[in-house]
Amino acid sequence: MSKKDSETKEFHAEVRQLLDIVIHSLYTDREIFIRELISNASDALEKLRMTQLTENKVFEGDLPIEVNITTDETAKTITIADYGIGMTRDELSENLGTIAHSGTKAFLEKSKDGAKPDVIGQFGVGFYSAYMVAERVEVYTRSWQEEGEHLRWESDGASGYTIDEVEGQKRGSRVVVHLKEEHEEFAKTERVRGIVERYSNFVGFPVHLNGERVNTVDALWLRSKKEITEEQYKEFYQFTAHAMDNPRYTMHFSADAPLAINALLFVPEENAERMGLGAQPPGVALYCRKVLIDSQPEGLLPEWLRFLRGVVDSEDLPLNISRESMQDTALVRKLSEVITKRFLKFLVKQSGDSPADYQKFYERFSRFLKEGIVASPVHQELLAGLLRFESSMTDSKEVTSLDGYLDRIKEGQEEIYFLVGSTRAVLEKGPYFEGFRARGLEVAFFTEAVDDYVLEGLREYKGKKLVAANRAGIELEDLPEEKGEESLSDEETEGLISWLNPALESRVARVDAGKRLVNHPMVALLPEDAPNAQMRAMMEAMGQGAPEMKAKLEINPRHPLIRQLAAIQEDQRDLATKVAAQLTDHALLAAGMEVNTAEIAEGMTDLLGELLD
Ligand code: ADP
Ligand code: MG
Repeated sequence: MSKKDSETKEFHAEVRQLLDIVIHSLYTDREIFIRELISNASDALEKLRMTQLTENKVFEGDLPIEVNITTDETAKTITIADYGIGMTRDELSENLGTIAHSGTKAFLEKSKDGAKPDVIGQFGVGFYSAYMVAERVEVYTRSWQEEGEHLRWESDGASGYTIDEVEGQKRGSRVVVHLKEEHEEFAKTERVRGIVERYSNFVGFPVHLNGERVNTVDALWLRSKKEITEEQYKEFYQFTAHAMDNPRYTMHFSADAPLAINALLFVPEENAERMGLGAQPPGVALYCRKVLIDSQPEGLLPEWLRFLRGVVDSEDLPLNISRESMQDTALVRKLSEVITKRFLKFLVKQSGDSPADYQKFYERFSRFLKEGIVASPVHQELLAGLLRFESSMTDSKEVTSLDGYLDRIKEGQEEIYFLVGSTRAVLEKGPYFEGFRARGLEVAFFTEAVDDYVLEGLREYKGKKLVAANRAGIELEDLPEEKGEESLSDEETEGLISWLNPALESRVARVDAGKRLVNHPMVALLPEDAPNAQMRAMMEAMGQGAPEMKAKLEINPRHPLIRQLAAIQEDQRDLATKVAAQLTDHALLAAGMEVNTAEIAEGMTDLLGELLD
């Protein structure tokens, strides 16, 4: 080494400030410096590969394209070496002595007086992250160009750096990190192996640690679908999701606009939450060019897609984006939106291509889709189209969809009717369905407790309002009167109602005659704007107390019981009162309203006694 070739330079002022922040304010995730240095090595190898395509003279052209990491516990060093593109003297000064990032200066100005330690989270300052753990870093390098110097760059990360010439470098760069006493853990093989496996398992070049290959798994998501076998997908799924099962669905896609995305998503065979495990953490990892950013990114996908496993890789992300800043960047929001939409469209396609398989998926995972309807208004319509249910037009155990309903909808019908109850049989027998059946109107049957809540949240589908068939205010057309059908006259009906209204005043909002009923004497309807049974139960559970709510009673003037009730109401008031009370109780019970069952039983006994007398 001749003296004239050694030079000492000051860092740019910006670099000094930056280093200061990186070293002193960044407490978490020191280990990522290894990821950063491997990324740089990998970038350098990639650049070399590109160079070799066009240049026929490359220094030491047949060195292996790989990254070699070595640790030395005694010397407390970790060394990351590559046979990549290397750096010339000028490049050393330019690349490691200045910051090109235009936004950095503004950021540093801002952070002078306020604490904003997360520089790494915002800017690509990868190389400097080594100074979180290093007391000094040396970079040995030799450029790919035939005429080049063998150089050594060194800095303690304080004020400046020196560059001098050293003999016998191979092409590429060798970064020697001299660890501070308190960070000597990074000279331990096992510690380093864990870090490399975690962050750099998919780096596209072989990564060796003390002579042993570490990264073994191919970044499958960046390859073309056509060249990947089902078996490879399965292995990849099992490896990344730490799973034993086979993926139920595999979705592999790439997009260029509006963002560059390569994604490989899996739906597991079973829904772990359904099998009694608690809410799952996010299972789709975020990568940028094969390098892990976050294995459980909170904001990447909506929470209701937490059952998905796999990988999303976007080269549009700054590599150093941090967990904290990830959640609220517009970029990640956009990413989330695009992927969510693609996945839902994928499901739509699957449901059409293979309804039986989709149904198996649906039985296990529908809860998440329903959660999505309530949580993500933007995706509501796609999600609603994925719902499956039995309806009054399907055979038992056959399912249909809202689109199926719309295909069959009667001309002029502006509403989609549904009922929520424990089983289809109960709903079919109950008082609400018969009026719709008599008119040939389809009613969708939903049988899960959450459905009430979900459908209420949905409100409409493709321009048609979703209406619960147990609500007041539904206009149904007149049924053609059947010949010889007996019914109370308008006058008699009026007479009955004007007795019932005051008699039942404390229990119901109003009593009216109506056209809905066929086989039931009386039905209780929920006011249009009242919270449904499910909502009321929730409000009670939250200690709010549900608002007092009274149903509207509708009587069926054609029903024998109602006709007889009208006949005896004046002469046998006592008996009529007991019968009216029983009918009311039954109607409220069917409406899922709170009733005193002990009282009903007592009233019934009373009534039966009277009957047998
Ligand atoms: P970034 O990787 O985001 O550009 P870094 O701070 O990690 O930022 O690195 C700064 C620059 O230093 C790189 O852009 C590259 O030009 C150069 N560099 C770093 N490591 C190497 C390496 N191993 N081989 C060649 N050049 C390197
Ligand atoms: Mg870098």
